[in-house]
Amino acid sequence: MPTDGPLVDTFGRVHDDLRLSVTDRCNLRCSYCMPEEGVTFRPRTDILSYEEFAVVARVAKSVGVTSVRFTGGEPLVRKGIVDLVAKVAEVGFSDIALTTNGTLLGGLAAGLVGAGLIRVNISCDSLRPERFAQIRRRGELGVVLDAMDAAEDAGLLPVKVNVVLVAGLNDDEILDFAAFSRATGRPVRFIEYMPLDADGHWRREQVVAGHDVVARIASCWPLEPVDAAGDAAPAERYRFTDGHGEIGVVASVTRPFCGTCNRLRLTADGAVQNCLFSDDELSVRDVLRGGGSDEDVADVLRRAVWGKRAGHGINDPEFLRPRRSMSMIGG
Ligand code: SAM
Ligand code: SF4
Repeated sequence: MPTDGPLVDTFGRVHDDLRLSVTDRCNLRCSYCMPEEGVTFRPRTDILSYEEFAVVARVAKSVGVTSVRFTGGEPLVRKGIVDLVAKVAEVGFSDIALTTNGTLLGGLAAGLVGAGLIRVNISCDSLRPERFAQIRRRGELGVVLDAMDAAEDAGLLPVKVNVVLVAGLNDDEILDFAAFSRATGRPVRFIEYMPLDADGHWRREQVVAGHDVVARIASCWPLEPVDAAGDAAPAERYRFTDGHGEIGVVASVTRPFCGTCNRLRLTADGAVQNCLFSDDELSVRDVLRGGGSDEDVADVLRRAVWGKRAGHGINDPEFLRPRRSMSMIGG
């Protein structure tokens, strides 16, 4: 394993995108993510402090990480999130983004921009108020739509909209979301439902394949691929040929993109993970709380990336669901 230079895996891929899951708590209970009764949260003492997150961010930057995304659970339920964003932003990354359910964003957008946040992805799985409430079990569609406006007004551009499609639940809204993108100019990302729901209800028949989504939309409005050469982001992107709006599909199940993945994840309790689907994790919290140096932290990051496997294996018959569900890792 290299002991200096950027974070590389055994396939020679550089990992320069760090996801910080700043809390495992959430104010919603989306049906494809958590059971209605919620999940058991970690004791607060297990969760990394702001200072600990900032140390990992600083060390990550020193080994080549250029972009950071805050996620959760719901990152905006973490008290003092604006200060945490500011601390991490001070390190000096070229991209700082946040993924949120949007329920608390309206009141925080301006403060987050002041702290250094550059962009947001807002999750919204239905444009129909009743269905939205059914899927998310809490929260209101109107609040989230208002938050999209507030984010734009504050300069968090572009506001991307994440839609997890579940067959029979919301896949009849694919064209509505495409029309929404055309009307607002907001890129909409359709995400394939992954076996990462906390209650283990995922079934393959519920996955709506990304290529079917593209075909359905293209049959109404012509699309052309967005040339994203050099962009390691997992979404396959398409723009409408008349210039109004953009859609993307994140086909983690039907078209895994492990071969170009450049991500590294830090969970709220300090586990470094090299893949959403991996149970291999290394604790940076133990290193920090044991008095470890920056070099020790860098070593944990290096070992995590070096341990990365060739693929996530969802499509292998022997695939086993990982211990941590999506709300603990952060997407
Ligand atoms: N709470 C924030 C939110 O909902 O945007 C951030 C954390 S959430 C775990 C990150 C992303 O994962 C969201 O876009 C969410 O819709 C997505 N997600 C959650 N469970 C999923 C699943 N089982 N399959 C695919 N995506 C999922
Ligand atoms: Fe919470 Fe996000 Fe999971 Fe929904 S998808 S339950 S908002 S963590």
